[in-house]
Amino acid sequence: MLTDIEIAQRAELVPIAKIAADLGIHEEELEPYGRFKAKLNDSLYNRLASHQDGKLILVTAINPTPAGEGKTTTTAGLGEAMKQIGKNAVIALREPSLGPVFGIKGGAAGGGYAQVVPMEDINLHFTGDFHAITSANNLLCAMLDNHIHQGNALGIDQRRILIKRCLDMNDRALRNIVVGLGGKINGIPREDGFCITVASEIMAIFCLALDITDLKERLGRILVAYTFTGAPVYASDLKAQGAMAALLKDAINPNLVQTLEGTPVIMHGGPFANIAHGCNSVRATRLALKLADYCITEAGFGSDLGAEKFLDIKCRLAQLSPSAIVLVATARALKYNGGVTKDKTAEENLEALKKGIVNLGAHIANMKKYGVPVVVAINRFGTDSEAELAFIEKYCRDNGADFALSEVFAKGGAGGVDLAKKVCEAAEKPANFHPIYSSDSTVKQKIECIAKEIYGADGVDYTSQAEKAIREIAALGGDVLPVCIAKTQYSLSDNALLLGRPKGFRITIRDLRLSNGAGFVVAYAGDIMTMPGLPRVPSAEKIDVDENGKISGLF
Ligand code: ADP
Ligand code: MG
Repeated sequence: MLTDIEIAQRAELVPIAKIAADLGIHEEELEPYGRFKAKLNDSLYNRLASHQDGKLILVTAINPTPAGEGKTTTTAGLGEAMKQIGKNAVIALREPSLGPVFGIKGGAAGGGYAQVVPMEDINLHFTGDFHAITSANNLLCAMLDNHIHQGNALGIDQRRILIKRCLDMNDRALRNIVVGLGGKINGIPREDGFCITVASEIMAIFCLALDITDLKERLGRILVAYTFTGAPVYASDLKAQGAMAALLKDAINPNLVQTLEGTPVIMHGGPFANIAHGCNSVRATRLALKLADYCITEAGFGSDLGAEKFLDIKCRLAQLSPSAIVLVATARALKYNGGVTKDKTAEENLEALKKGIVNLGAHIANMKKYGVPVVVAINRFGTDSEAELAFIEKYCRDNGADFALSEVFAKGGAGGVDLAKKVCEAAEKPANFHPIYSSDSTVKQKIECIAKEIYGADGVDYTSQAEKAIREIAALGGDVLPVCIAKTQYSLSDNALLLGRPKGFRITIRDLRLSNGAGFVVAYAGDIMTMPGLPRVPSAEKIDVDENGKISGLF
């Protein structure tokens, strides 16, 4: 079989103006970036504002292996399959980060015959949104250090600066650094560090902002530091929000691309789900809901991370109400959850599958708690045995879960027809969506609710640093905000090694941060890092470009 990039490069793309025209988008509402990418400007949303919303379908998954289990692939394939059964769908996805592209996981535009194209552009620079976000973040950092250098009128305590510089790259050497070295003209020395752009608060704000005004207000509200007397310093105190918003003015317009079969895809924003809130921009989702009868969207990693945050943070904030949840499961991830090492997940192993299937059970039960119908999509890999697939299907049947075998990777939309039908049926059922915790509960109660209800923990422990942070956040009025837990994606717990459906564990919150502009509190569980590192053999070693500009090795 051809590789993902070979399939993508052989595809004949439809000009983006035609994709847009077929959606009823007017010429002046489209800002083309070349022939196959475009941005959608505000005049489109304004024109459609009074239109009825389509149904919102969320694609999530069980706990993955390090390679990913096919949510993006399933999302793209489901969007294609909808077309095959005569439904109109628009897909809303995150933009890929260069971290995974050059690291271990590879690109994030789907796979096989269920991909979003042009995949090389999407996986590399795309329309420059991440550049704009990185620049806005680093402008704020530069203004803060300059403020201190120029006399520090605000009295910023350089030992209590909360914002970090960012870069869209996996680079562990930048986690902890010292800036301002070199004497008087080079600033005031202090400890600093980088996070990856997709973990920055600017990315979260970018994805939650409703329009440019809301964006600017949120940017101004970012808590950047404390003063020597313990008072908060906001980005607005540095007068940074206007210039930051100016840097983001084009970036906040959602990007339009297409799948291999010409299903429209709105791709916009891209926070990771382990260290951030994990879903594409609210503006992209809203637009997709206005443009089609079905908006199919993905939230990152397993349902314990992306889906929980999608449902408890994004849907609450943007007043969205999903009609169905698609839970992607693979035989290989279930075997991995049953204790098989990642190099052996392609071999048939019914024993491991039986052991690991409890992970699927946990995710089905968790998603049902939100009052939304669930459909399990069994994402078929060429290496899956019939016996393994039959076992997963029987498990779903015995547990009263709707399911469909999805072959979109190998067959495109045609391989997802059964899934599409099941999803449409589920979306007709009465949904009674509600977040898992109420806004009125305290930050600790919210964390405890997620830990017990979703992770299956017995309780939560806090370090003394975390206790202190909780008091400070409460003093600033942050107790009413939703929480965004930063946690490993490999386990339902905060320990990557506890696979399957762990029992009898507690999670540890080591620190918290008020993302005041985004409007949530980040709680760091376990030793999760906001700047990933590259693996021993990074994917970057295999990526190349030939004399004609043709890229290879992106998968
Ligand atoms: P996720 O969005 O869950 O992280 P992706 O859809 O990005 O997962 O898929 C992760 C990787 O697995 C991609 O390289 C993709 O090509 C590959 N993949 C997904 N589904 C299949 C499948 N059914 N068979 C083979 N490879 C697959
Ligand atoms: Mg994905």
